[in-house]
Amino acid sequence: MNPQIIPIEGEPWRFRVRSRSRPEVLHLVDAETCECSCETHQFRVEPARSRGEWLEDCPHVRMVRDHLLNKFIALVNRERRKKSA
Ligand SMILES: [Zn+2]
Repeated sequence: MNPQIIPIEGEPWRFRVRSRSRPEVLHLVDAETCECSCETHQFRVEPARSRGEWLEDCPHVRMVRDHLLNKFIALVNRERRKKSA
C-alpha cells in the first residue's frame, strides 16, 4: 500500500494523505465526493467546478481513488479464484 495514504478507522471512503513536498502536512481526502483539504482542491478545483468547468482532481484524490481501485481489483480476483476452486 502507498505509504502516503493513511486510512481512517470506521470511515471507508476517507483517508489522510501525506503531502509529498511538506511531509508534516496531512490532507483529508473523501473518495466518495472527490474532495480534499489541500490548496489545489480548495482554490482551483472547487471554484472551477462551481463555475461548471471541468478540472482534473488534485493528486491526493487521484492517489486515493487509485488505491481503492487496486483494492477492488484484488477483491474481485479473490472472489473469482474462490469460485473456480
Ligand atoms: Zn488534494
